[in-house]
Amino acid sequence: MSNSKIYLSSPHMGGTEQSFVNEAFETNWIAPLGPNVEGFEKDLENYLGVENHVAALSSGTAALHLALILLGVERGDEVICQSMTFSASANPIVYQGAIPIFVDSEPDTWNICPNHLEEAIKDRIAKGKKPKAIIAVHLYGMPYKVDEIKKISEKYEIPIVEDSAEALGSSYKGQKCGTFGDISILSFNGNKIITTSGGGALVSKNLKLKDKAIFLATQARDAAPHYQHSEIGYNYRLSNISAGIGRGQMEVLDKHVGLRQKMNQFYRDIFRNTMGVKVFSEPNSDYFSNHWLSCVLIDKALCCFSPEEIRLAMAENNIESRPLWKPMHLQPVFKNAPYYGADISEKLFEFGLCLPSGSNLKEQEKVKINDVLIHFIDI
Ligand SMILES: *Cc1c(COP(=O)(O)O)cnc(C)c1O
Repeated sequence: MSNSKIYLSSPHMGGTEQSFVNEAFETNWIAPLGPNVEGFEKDLENYLGVENHVAALSSGTAALHLALILLGVERGDEVICQSMTFSASANPIVYQGAIPIFVDSEPDTWNICPNHLEEAIKDRIAKGKKPKAIIAVHLYGMPYKVDEIKKISEKYEIPIVEDSAEALGSSYKGQKCGTFGDISILSFNGNKIITTSGGGALVSKNLKLKDKAIFLATQARDAAPHYQHSEIGYNYRLSNISAGIGRGQMEVLDKHVGLRQKMNQFYRDIFRNTMGVKVFSEPNSDYFSNHWLSCVLIDKALCCFSPEEIRLAMAENNIESRPLWKPMHLQPVFKNAPYYGADISEKLFEFGLCLPSGSNLKEQEKVKINDVLIHFIDI
């Protein structure tokens, strides 16, 4: 990655990652198993609370796929998914031959709306099929309305898959994100709050689900001296090299969350007195966001500049910024999927912009970002 370009979120090594990787080389554990894999799982379990069991996997997408398999999602089933998210939340539904049912966001957390969720469940049941799972996402690190969504899940007895890919280090009412789902998932892709260069994890309080996830992720080999299979398996385990990076990253996770929160404050300071610009922040003290990405909503009618004008000016200065996730119900590939909601996610997509948020931005880079933004505010 070039030094000069300022990215939305780039890998930020803490310093000890390489020693875990070196150890893997020295002991020849160059495989999708080994001491770093187990060590990384332990580190995550200690961080999330030891009642949570963690299976380290090759990606967050793989974790979502296994979560749906473990919940028995099959061909023709329906699975509810937050529309406003990255496509990886929804794609595994289709891997299983199931049908995604998309639900709008609410404006406080930008995540799945409890009212439209219940409306969707009632309507799908009335049409003859009870959804098999609810995929709820903590977008940009902001916890979804955990209590409200959990209540609906319990009322209709539909399990939650908690997509916490963007929210490691966030919490709701003091409890860590990644521990709220019947099954939860994490991602350690290169742009996430911590990275293993590529990786993910499945989290569950049920040890049997962790064991079954690892079984499926390692080609579903039955206990036999020869290779014998009674189920279809996958090659989804995390490599011992990648897990070594993860162990080093866990040492700096909380420090990096603090730095991302400072970036959020940086933008709140810049736009403090700007009518029509709102920096996305926690709705109240129940919510603690890792602020994986800092985002703004820009209403041109009030502030006289648009998110696209900012994006282009940033690009001209070699600074990355990006519109918010385009809702799944607007994506060509999902155009035939049922959708429940109003226009909240569409409006967020229209007015929103993600700004550089990395924990490793240098002072001079912040000055550069500030200069571009201030230019808009001053005119
Ligand atoms: C990154 C991400 C994923 C997928 O994780 P990978 O590790 O990249 O496969 C899933 N959901 C959300 C919301 C994400 O941001």
